[in-house]
Amino acid sequence: MSSVAVVSSENLYEKQQSCATPVVQATAAKVNLLGMSRPELEKFFEDLGEKKFRAGQVMKWIHQYFVTDFAEMSNISGKLREKLEKICEIKAPEVVHRNYSKDGTRKWVFRVGDGEGSLVETVLIPAEDKTGARKTLCISSQVGCALDCSFCSTGKQGFQRDLTPAEIIGQLWMANYSYMEDVPVAERERTVTNVVMMGMGEPLLNYDAVLSSMQLMLDDFAYGMSKRRVTLSTSGVVPKIDQLAQDIDVALAISLHAPNDELRNELVPINKKYPLQQLIAACQRYLAKDGNESARRHVTIEYVMLDGVNDQPEHAQQLLKLLKNLPSKINLIPFNPFPHAPYGRSSRNRIIAFQKTLSDAGFVCTIRQTRGDDIDAACGQLVGQVADRTRRAEQWKKKVAQQQEILRTQG
Ligand code: SF4
Repeated sequence: MSSVAVVSSENLYEKQQSCATPVVQATAAKVNLLGMSRPELEKFFEDLGEKKFRAGQVMKWIHQYFVTDFAEMSNISGKLREKLEKICEIKAPEVVHRNYSKDGTRKWVFRVGDGEGSLVETVLIPAEDKTGARKTLCISSQVGCALDCSFCSTGKQGFQRDLTPAEIIGQLWMANYSYMEDVPVAERERTVTNVVMMGMGEPLLNYDAVLSSMQLMLDDFAYGMSKRRVTLSTSGVVPKIDQLAQDIDVALAISLHAPNDELRNELVPINKKYPLQQLIAACQRYLAKDGNESARRHVTIEYVMLDGVNDQPEHAQQLLKLLKNLPSKINLIPFNPFPHAPYGRSSRNRIIAFQKTLSDAGFVCTIRQTRGDDIDAACGQLVGQVADRTRRAEQWKKKVAQQQEILRTQG
């Protein structure tokens, strides 16, 4: 699910920094340990004739101390380190672009895959709340997206491919590492406090890779995050919501955006396959699965505010009716128009009036704040801008080479 942060893209090119990802360079034949779950890594070590507990040791080096060089893993014997060096690697996706905002927001564009590869983006948003300082990372699960929601910049790029577990968890690894790169290994700690699977792509359509990445997020030998601080956001792939309920206990968010089927069919076309009644019933089953002790006390409802489209008083009333039997918190997202977007952003007054209707009826309803204005763009836009810039640089290089060739033949 793509988030729709409210941002502008001013001076993008001046502010960008070129980046070199600190990874072990390795041949394609090496096994990348970064995305492996604990059971997979235990099996890997057993197959090497080693004890299972090595998996936990190596996981801590990778995910808690952000070490990519086996030589630094001091509690592993020299012989095993040498062996690992020969056959494995710890490789995060390459950072091709990063921007750090004055307000603490950080944004990365990663290249995934071989050669020119494809681009995905990740954004980190800091905030203060009653539990202290939060750093929430919005992670992508696919390159592009097949679901083509009409307000979404990522959807306009079409679907290219699913991300692997290493490419998904690599986004979290890199965000943590970005705070720790100058810190001595022994003093490093995990900085990202919350994760939302809400970047590019529909996470439930890349189910296995997303599930195993979220298991790593919760694993005490990896990121050890609280299950209430890991949220999966979906546009409503109903059968997969039921499967998720069986497989893992994390928080659920629904990218709803419309309070009736007619409008939702237009904004979120997967609604034609899984209409609202089915979706709400799936959310109720999800919450019923584990009771109050779990991360499933409520569902977060994401609702992008589109001027004159879904922001009228009757829409607020319809939303109240739709959610009356679903414990939910509602997050209103002011739309960030992208080039050729068919919608505009609702006025501040309209958003506040919408919020008041929902709050007066007893719902916790918040308006997403504008963050990272000096660096950001709506989800999916930055990738487009970086791709354009790369294309222009390539064209320029070609032109220069042609000129040089002409001069050489003339001279
Ligand atoms: S097209 Fe829809 S499901 Fe896909 S990333 Fe955009 S909002 Fe999410």
